[in-house]
Amino acid sequence: MKDCLFCRIVKREIPSEIVYEDEEILAFKDISPQAPVHLLWISKRHIEGLDEIAAQDQLLIGKILLKISEYAQKDEELASGYRVCTNIGLDGGQTVRHLHFHLLGGKVLEPKMA
Ligand code: 5GP
Ligand code: ZN
Repeated sequence: MKDCLFCRIVKREIPSEIVYEDEEILAFKDISPQAPVHLLWISKRHIEGLDEIAAQDQLLIGKILLKISEYAQKDEELASGYRVCTNIGLDGGQTVRHLHFHLLGGKVLEPKMA
């Protein structure tokens, strides 16, 4: 999508620190990290959020979670645990309307989620 920030990152119109890429998925460092490890995992194809996924997206969403898990198993900073979350819509705190999963870790995270 033309004016979408994360689509522009996929197209390399905006620079980012990429840590994983394949034909369908991109993962890059969050510009404003909330933890020592703070990555954003996205579908390269524009999907607005978890509220917009369809049956045809289920393999892709599963694959993103698998790749996050594979990545986390290799990162020593995440050996004792980490958090994966996605914000949805205004009340969910979603600021970028391109589906993304936050991977946070590298410290003891707050147990409180809201
Ligand atoms: P949300 O609030 O939508 O769940 O998460 C959006 C995330 O995107 C935020 O954590 C924010 O720091 C990150 N972000 C916003 N703009 C940029 C950018 O230009 N580059 C990168 N790498 N991250 C960004
Ligand atoms: Zn997009």
